[in-house]
Order: sequence, then structure tokens, then C-alpha cells
Amino acid sequence: MSEILVLVDHVDGAVRKPTYELLTIAKRLGEPSAVFIGATEAADAVVEAVKKYGAEKVYVVDDTEVKGYLVAPKAEVLQQVAAQASPGAILISSNAEGKEIAGRLAIKLESGLITDAVDVQAGEGGPGNGPVTTQSVFAGNYTVQAKVTQGVPIITVKPNAASPEEVAGAGVVEKFSATISEAAKKAQIVASQPRESTGRPELTEAAIVVSGGRGTGGNFEPVEDFADSLGAAVGASRAAVDSGWKPHAFQVGQTGKTVSPQLYVAAGISGAIQHRAGMQTSKTIVAINKDEEAPIFELVDFGVVGDLHTVLPAATAEVTKRKG
Ligand code: FAD
Repeated sequence: MSEILVLVDHVDGAVRKPTYELLTIAKRLGEPSAVFIGATEAADAVVEAVKKYGAEKVYVVDDTEVKGYLVAPKAEVLQQVAAQASPGAILISSNAEGKEIAGRLAIKLESGLITDAVDVQAGEGGPGNGPVTTQSVFAGNYTVQAKVTQGVPIITVKPNAASPEEVAGAGVVEKFSATISEAAKKAQIVASQPRESTGRPELTEAAIVVSGGRGTGGNFEPVEDFADSLGAAVGASRAAVDSGWKPHAFQVGQTGKTVSPQLYVAAGISGAIQHRAGMQTSKTIVAINKDEEAPIFELVDFGVVGDLHTVLPAATAEVTKRKG
């Protein structure tokens, strides 16, 4: 069975959840191999983490020559690991950095690239037969199944495309030393600052998202309280963002972020096509809207016709009570 390379998505050695999702997908396609580009001191903990999700091998690449630069060196590392491993596919998280690495890598390997997959399955006939991806395109109006036809399939996968499954892998460590060209070091990072933590999960990675729209009237407290009772991220419609109630980083939709959580709760959001484009691949959708004709109700699994300022506090109280 061929190796399926998974680029470990991490912050200073803290492995992010999408990595486990990618490893779970990799297991369907072949033999999962994680590629960790980071500080050597962090490697042991990373190896322990990824082998719990099926990594049979972990390529550990010291990032002394990589950190401090933008994405080009990481693409070179992956190119060199791929040259050695001859993988059946390369899976990368679908975030801004991941997509840029994937694009550069595709050119280097002369391979086809598929971005923003919401599902990846083994091709007909099982593993070894080129993965088949599912994407939601044209503002979510079409669902497309695609396959790479040239080179090593490089696929960026959106968060929450799979539920991470714990399965023990051998986690055999292979120290890999990559050669980084001078050309890859042309864009240097001169300063970086961690984003102020809200204490809530990152919007695009959260398993549950609770979003508020114009119907909040600017009072996001019920939305935030409900989100906190569920350990969810908070999102917003463009109308709420344009009104200055939430920063643009909270916006879900065509010109905001795309989310695909297990549960999406839309409160006081009408369900315009541009909003749907950012959330309609969510596994379960719940809406609270006082207008029973609101278009959002066309795509929900569960809808509540009512005032969010009454419904959400009641739901929060119930969740809190049941949590004990
Ligand atoms: P509205 O459409 O005004 O809906 C408010 C809803 O709240 C109504 O259904 C109402 O019945 C309900 N409501 C009111 N009071 C209450 C209450 N007390 N309790 C319960 N329900 C209540 N929009 C996005 O969201 N994301 C995008 O990325 C985005 N990109 C866009 C890009 C372009 C090029 C364009 C043209 C538009 C874009 N939009 C986007 C805007 C989009 O078309 C809608 O205008 C926007 O989504 C509406 O936001 P809303 O649902 O909060 O507000």
C-alpha cells in the first residue's frame, strides 16, 4: 500500500485538529505518514500525538532553515519527502498557508491539485486507485466529485471533512534533512503576533458554530452565551459585520469564512445565498428565526420559529442544566 503524506498542521508543536482528520482520511487511501516540519524539541510530543491517529511513519524535519520565511521552504521540504516516499497522495489542511504550499508543490511535482475538498474517499476498487474528492463549488450551488489525473494527487481538505478516529499507528520516526534553496528564502517574516485568544475554538475548525445575524439587533450576548454552553465558535452574517457588531473575522459566507461544522446554528439570519455559500456543507443545520417564511428554513434539519432573544437563553439554560 502506498504512503499517504499528511502535512502536520501545528502551532509551535501543538498539533491542530485538522491533522487528525487528515490522518483519518489518509487511512482510507493507504498508509498514513505524517510530515512534521518544526522544532526538534517538539518532535517527540508530535510523534506521540499523530501515531494515536494512525500515523505509521513520521518524517521529522528540523525547521531551522524553514522558520522565519513564508511558505516556499515548506513546499520544497514536501517535494523532497515526496521524491523519497513516492506517495499515493499528499493531504494538506485547507487554510491560506496550506493552499499556497499545495499550489507551489503541485508545480514542483507537475501534479494535479484539488483544493477545499469536503470529503475524500478511495477510488473505485479501493485504496491505490486514486482518491476521489467532493467539493462544494459556485457559492455552494454545485457539489463536484473530482479526481487528479496527473502525478501525485495533492489535496487540500477543509476542516471537519472527517471525524478524527483514534487508531494506533507504528509512528516510526524518520529524521529527514531537506535542502532549502536561496530562492525559497526570498520572503522573510519580520514580525508575528499571536491573535488575541477569545477562549473559543477557531471558527473554521470548530465542531459547532453558532452565528448571529441582523436579527440579533446588535445584541450578541444570547448567541455568545449559547455558543459557550456548547463549547462552540461564534460566527456572524455580513449584515451583522457591516453593522459593526462583529469584526470581519467572524463573517461566514461567500466573502467571509467557509465553515463545515458538525452543527451550525443560525440565529436571526435570513439565509441569503451568499451566507449559505459559507455554511451549507455543515452536517446538521439549526435555525432560529421569527419569520417562518425565512429562506434559511429551506435548508435546515431543525428549525425554531421564534424570537432568538427568548429561544437562545432558554436553550442555553437547558444545555447548562443537562451538563450538570
Ligand atoms: P437579513 O437578511 O436582514 O435577515 C435577518 C433575519 O433575522 C430575518 O430573516 C428576520 O426574520 C430575522 N429576525 C429578525 N429579528 C429576529 C429575532 N428577534 N429573532 C429571530 N429572528 C429574527 N452575507 C453573508 O452573511 N456572508 C457573506 O459572506 C456575504 N457575502 C456577500 C457577497 C456579495 C457579493 C453580496 C452581494 C452579498 C453578500 N452577503 C453576504 C449579504 C447577503 O446577501 C445578505 O444581505 C446577508 O447575509 C443578510 O444577513 P442577515 O441574514 O443577518 O440579515
